[in-house]
Amino acid sequence: MNIVVCISSVPDTTAKINFTDNGSKFDANGVQFVINPYDEFGLTKAMMLKEATGGKVTVITVGDITVEPVMRKSLAIGADAAVRINMNATDSYSTAREIANYLINNPADIIITGRESIDYNGGAVGGMIAEMMNLPFVNACNGLEISGNTAKLTREIDGGKENITSELPFVIGGQKGLVLESELRIPNMRGIMQARSKPLEVFESSSIEGLTSSVNFEKPVEKEACKLVDADNVAELVNLLQNEAKVI
Ligand SMILES: Cc1cc2nc3c(=O)[nH]c(=O)nc-3n(C[C@H](O)[C@H](O)[C@H](O)COP(=O)(O)OP(=O)(O)OC[C@H]3O[C@@H](n4cnc5c(N)ncnc54)[C@H](O)[C@@H]3O)c2cc1C
Repeated sequence: MNIVVCISSVPDTTAKINFTDNGSKFDANGVQFVINPYDEFGLTKAMMLKEATGGKVTVITVGDITVEPVMRKSLAIGADAAVRINMNATDSYSTAREIANYLINNPADIIITGRESIDYNGGAVGGMIAEMMNLPFVNACNGLEISGNTAKLTREIDGGKENITSELPFVIGGQKGLVLESELRIPNMRGIMQARSKPLEVFESSSIEGLTSSVNFEKPVEKEACKLVDADNVAELVNLLQNEAKVI
């Protein structure tokens, strides 16, 4: 089975996010990048499917050279090969188009994306790849079992789950539940050493124009400091709620 896992390189969830150039550019200085958490679930599931049925797991990232450490980590976790499409990904459509172009020439049985990236949160790339390749798409997928050429999938819906069947090939937007959190794999020394000699191919992008471009970014307004009112001073509390917070 040939499985392709799309990996987005995203800032660590604890990173302090800042912007430069009047809020038009993300400031990557000092930011640690990690595998998008939803993609980590997908990658681990891909490894398990490969171990059960044989085949190959390839990870693909659209990005410049700065995404390579995250790709090497994916190889250290166990992916067999990595592909980087050399492009500064700034738009969901052109990112999906580049991945679809690769897949047209390198067909896969299962294409795994995350349900969304945790930085730009577009939640668009997986669905777009499926549409561009005329393949079924199951988003928010939290269960996947393969039997021959058929898959049983589950997806999260409000207050429950939906059971789905699909023939291969298909695209999923994966999330927690595909595997348990405790099953996520941490690269060990052997994996890190092996990753160094695994193939990481770089393809030039097809220079597809994006459909959107960001004007600037705004951070949420900082919360004001908390005011403490003496427990006996109810008049002051009422005054502040009425005249400052204007909630009563
Ligand atoms: C101004 C700006 C600058 C940006 N700069 C960078 C940058 O320097 N480097 C960078 O990596 N991203 C950058 N991005 C993010 C980039 O836009 C995304 O990679 C891409 O547009 C998809 O984002 P999304 O939120 O729509 O993804 P979603 O649709 O939310 O992602 C869903 C899934 O699609 C897959 N996916 C998403 N993006 C990629 C990708 N690039 N490669 C492979 N699979 C992917 C993953 O499996 C992910 O879980 C930038 C975005 C903006 C707006």
